[in-house]
Amino acid sequence: MTYTNIHRFLLRTIASAGVITKEDAEKIVRNHADDQDISIPALVEKINEELRPIKQQIKITNDELSAEEVLVFMSLGFDDATKSQNLFPAADLEYFRILIEQIVTTENRQISGIHALNLVGNMKSTYTKTSAQKMLDTWCRMKYLDKEDTNYVLGVRTIHEFEGYLRENMADSIEECCLCKQIVLRGYNCIGCGNAVHTRCINKYTERVKKWPCCKIEFSADHLDRVYSQRLTQSQSNTVQDEINTDSSHENSEEMTQEISTQEIIPEMSQRGTRKRKRTDQ
Ligand SMILES: [Zn+2]
Ligand SMILES: [Zn+2]
Repeated sequence: MTYTNIHRFLLRTIASAGVITKEDAEKIVRNHADDQDISIPALVEKINEELRPIKQQIKITNDELSAEEVLVFMSLGFDDATKSQNLFPAADLEYFRILIEQIVTTENRQISGIHALNLVGNMKSTYTKTSAQKMLDTWCRMKYLDKEDTNYVLGVRTIHEFEGYLRENMADSIEECCLCKQIVLRGYNCIGCGNAVHTRCINKYTERVKKWPCCKIEFSADHLDRVYSQRLTQSQSNTVQDEINTDSSHENSEEMTQEISTQEIIPEMSQRGTRKRKRTDQ
């Protein structure tokens, strides 16, 4: 396959947007490619050959937040501090690192706008909240950050471009999906062995097999209901928690905490984190 205008056009579109959906990529092919049979993976493979010498890459993956298949534009070696400093000034980069650490280690993997701005107080560099807000907007535009309601979450681009950095520096907070082996920030932990899995991965898997992929525990209808229902948000998780509290005959809250952790429910990972902490505190 030769490198043609459709490759150039697709690359330009992805590079300027940061991330596009596979659906949009297919639209581009329909509207601009001479060869309509060309597949997106084949196009991406050819583009990546051209990008390799300049250490850039397009990755086809899934967005945890939107559950869509996406094409992500990545600068490789972004983990390397010297390299990344060419892309952002050192102070912006310091703020970015503090920000992503805060998001990854916070319950539900999201932080409020006010919390994000207050992080400038943790920085060594002098950094104003105005600069912080400007960068938050920029990173959202570049798909390094995403917004869930008014909260900031990691964008799909950060999860993949900074994969090495996240694994190395935030190992305690990072889990790997037992199906696709990529980082899971939003998903579920197996009721049996605690292995992490993406919502999308477990949904696809249980379409075929009604067992957990890791330890092969039977999947009950109750698990399925919960897995197939929308990804739990903070308020929804509270509702689930309330339901459990109401359903149970246990009055004692300490006993309740233990009970929940052993009950056959699918804990959202952040909730599991909470229980861990609760147990340690008691
Ligand atoms: Zn997965
Ligand atoms: Zn398991």
